[in-house]
Amino acid sequence: MIPRSKPEYLYVHVPFCKSICHYCDFTHTVYMHDRAEQWLEALQKEILHREINPHLKTIYIGGGTPSSLDETQLERLLSMLAPYAKHVCEYTVEVNPETLSEAKAQLLADYGVNRISIGFQCAQADQLKMLGRHHTKEDVLCTMQLLRSKGIDNISLDLMYSLPHQTMDMLKQSIDTALSFSPKHLSLYSLSIEENTVFGKKGMKPLDDETEADMYEYICQELPKHGFEQYEISNFSLPGYQSVHNRAYWTYRDFMGISCGASGKEGYMRYDHPFTLKEYLQDPLKQEDIPLSKEDAMFEMVMMNLRLKEGMSLNLFQETFDESFTDAFKGRYEPLCESGQLCMEEGMLKCTEDSWHILNSVLGALL
Ligand code: SF4
Repeated sequence: MIPRSKPEYLYVHVPFCKSICHYCDFTHTVYMHDRAEQWLEALQKEILHREINPHLKTIYIGGGTPSSLDETQLERLLSMLAPYAKHVCEYTVEVNPETLSEAKAQLLADYGVNRISIGFQCAQADQLKMLGRHHTKEDVLCTMQLLRSKGIDNISLDLMYSLPHQTMDMLKQSIDTALSFSPKHLSLYSLSIEENTVFGKKGMKPLDDETEADMYEYICQELPKHGFEQYEISNFSLPGYQSVHNRAYWTYRDFMGISCGASGKEGYMRYDHPFTLKEYLQDPLKQEDIPLSKEDAMFEMVMMNLRLKEGMSLNLFQETFDESFTDAFKGRYEPLCESGQLCMEEGMLKCTEDSWHILNSVLGALL
């Protein structure tokens, strides 16, 4: 039985953005000063109510766009979290290049933020416009320089591929540009078009599967030439710069999520907060609990860990469930090992290199 523990990893969702990107289906609303004030009030209430671990290992403030808050509001948010930030080894904030002022960058540094994630997406101005983003690649570089001038140089860039009308040359140019900005970490995601987004409503389509697969292959081959290790299906880092917070999700640790749109997991319980800001303002303590069966939890642990290149520790599985992986998945994992899709090496279960990109079908066979 997984013990119910006080999670050591905290996620805080800021639901505001300066404008709404055409592909985005996260919980967000266009920033308005008064709404943000109300949200901070609600968040304060939630923080006082929740028993947040004072010995957190990581804090991740995502969104939405945390940097869309004005300076006073950003300081209020950071000061609310300060009692829990004393011992963290990694404190990440997502930043949009349009909304980071010098004063906000200084605040982040003053409150101990030591990692920044920036949405770069691609290098081409017309593609950025199509995505509904209002910054340029030069703005991204200026934001990085500003953060570095305040002492924050652990910077991750998010890029997207399989964008409508994107060619392989455009992707190469985007990657070259991102690399020339010297980030420590890169996340590359293929576009997926959800129904309730601007793209979904317009009936836009990503590229065909074959082109998308070619792009992914290029990414996986190119980035290691520049010193970036692919440690997770979509994530690459220079040595020593893997995301500690995101690794907690992939290694199936407990984590606490606060604010609207955030989820958490503690033992055999998952919970979701209200998806909309309106509902959250009505009752910031409301959450929906989703109990997990032991079988669900076992499968989720395998599913998340196999996203990592290193795979899953068989000892950790045994310690977590008091049952070995080979017993729990008897009859289902052996054919995958025999066909060379899974392997067990030095106490780790992992996808082989050739099967990593078809992880979903491997997991389907394990279910
Ligand atoms: S992609 Fe990021 S910046 Fe754009 S609307 Fe979504 S949360 Fe906001």
